[in-house]
Amino acid sequence: MKYVKPEIAETGKTLSKLIADFKSASSFNEADKIMFQINEIRNEFESMKIIAFINYSNDTNNVLYSDEQDYFDSNYPLFTDYVMEYYKALVKSKYRNELSEKYGAHLFEIAEISLKSFDQAIIDDMQKENHLASEYMKLKASAKINFKDKELNLQELEPYMESKDRSLRKEAFTAYWKFFGDNKEEFDKLFDKLVYLRNDMAVKMGYKNYVELGYARMKRMDYNEEMINKFRENIKKYIVPLAEKLREKQRKRLGLDKLMVHDLFYQFSTGNPTPKGDPEWIVDQGKKMYDELSSDTREFYDFMFENELMNVFSRKGKADMGYCEYIPKYRSPYIFANMNGTDDDITVLTHEAGHAFQAYASRNFHFKEYTEPTMESAEVHSMSMEFLTYPWMNLFFKEDTDKFKYSHLNGAVNFLPYGVMVDDFQHWVYNNPEATPDERKSRWREMEKVYMPHLNYGEIDFLEEGGRWQKQGHIYESPFYYIDYCLAQICAFQFWSKAIQNGNGEFNNALKDYIKLCEAGGSRSFLELLKLANLESPFEEGVIKKVVNEIETYIDSLDDSAF
Ligand SMILES: [Zn+2]
Repeated sequence: MKYVKPEIAETGKTLSKLIADFKSASSFNEADKIMFQINEIRNEFESMKIIAFINYSNDTNNVLYSDEQDYFDSNYPLFTDYVMEYYKALVKSKYRNELSEKYGAHLFEIAEISLKSFDQAIIDDMQKENHLASEYMKLKASAKINFKDKELNLQELEPYMESKDRSLRKEAFTAYWKFFGDNKEEFDKLFDKLVYLRNDMAVKMGYKNYVELGYARMKRMDYNEEMINKFRENIKKYIVPLAEKLREKQRKRLGLDKLMVHDLFYQFSTGNPTPKGDPEWIVDQGKKMYDELSSDTREFYDFMFENELMNVFSRKGKADMGYCEYIPKYRSPYIFANMNGTDDDITVLTHEAGHAFQAYASRNFHFKEYTEPTMESAEVHSMSMEFLTYPWMNLFFKEDTDKFKYSHLNGAVNFLPYGVMVDDFQHWVYNNPEATPDERKSRWREMEKVYMPHLNYGEIDFLEEGGRWQKQGHIYESPFYYIDYCLAQICAFQFWSKAIQNGNGEFNNALKDYIKLCEAGGSRSFLELLKLANLESPFEEGVIKKVVNEIETYIDSLDDSAF
């Protein structure tokens, strides 16, 4: 996959010409053909942007790559401007009826909501926003923490934070948060700028504040702020008590008087479950797993394997992140990760491969709107794959298999209160854009007491003052992108319930639904996709209540002290 820098001026000129032709097309066939050409150009530009990002994350010390990343930070908003011109032409097209018959109405819904989230007046602000987000990433990556005679970055410190040795865990936690405490002015300043910038964008576009614009940018079309509020309330009502109960079980398992922040990642007194082989071995076991799961997953995994699309082995200079990208020009998914010997290595093979499988399954769509679903739908693919592969976890965890499943489900439940809280916090922040950094932090700390009352921060003042959210990249980089994980988790639990809890007969039906969902990619809205996959809406109170009951029954049936 060759990288050729796309010149924005040239791309723009070609697109403008094609859009003009599209507007004056004299037949549906002609319009359709031009639409194809427009999407070819878009796919080329998008593909180069993704390859540039892959190159950069693969070697963050390479100045050439970081320059290319800068190039896209500056020019992607300009590119977006041309895409919006295309959307305007699309929604006004004389052939709209024929086009929506061929491609479905959802494309037009996406075009319409995207137009609500963009205006030429905010291009400048979008460029600044991209650069500030990159600055945040760089600030976190700049961490050089002296720990046990080694100089570590934040990720390298993490394994110590789940060490068996409690005092080592505590030391690692203290060192980790000291970095944030030492740089708190910088973190505050960056976020302050982002909040003001985003609020300005919203005001320039005629919105009261950033909240509504944020929703439009996330392309949320079949649910609104009120439904999200209700969802958060239901999580508070049904999940928070279960999560607290799980923390209490954890405290007892570990034989502690009080569960402190530095104990949170440490689940079992016998140690957390780990895969029983090195990364190469894991990738091989993955082949066996996807071979057996279905013929579709077999074809997918072979494609990834043979085309070397899984860049998952740790190497110096690689950005410490995990992601899946889809490169439209090559109709090919790409997985990036750093396997490090923890159970996260397996999540790369299930979560990221879930994203990649969807991309592969929907690769026959020619445009981004349908190959890249909105985030809440996309996370259903990845989080559900984590559960659908449960029957193969023994390949990786051997005698630790049950321990892993318990820990994984536990983690999924414990995540939800945090997840909805991140969303609640962001609503507060953008509804109160004039709040000071200190006010934001005390608001966060108050929310923690509601959503995660078990938290004990001990002597870590930075956390006690409400600074924990500053490590959460989404809050800086992609506002309002977080509730998506929570909505998707409730859907993924339904796959767990059907495929895993209800025995083998249901497994194949659930798997069929899952594959159907992946093949549909982003061609429908979130709630429509759920219907297609026979899933119930997470906005229904009864749905949350039902999955919580099932999980609780399962957890109560296990003797966790045996792990
Ligand atoms: Zn994901």
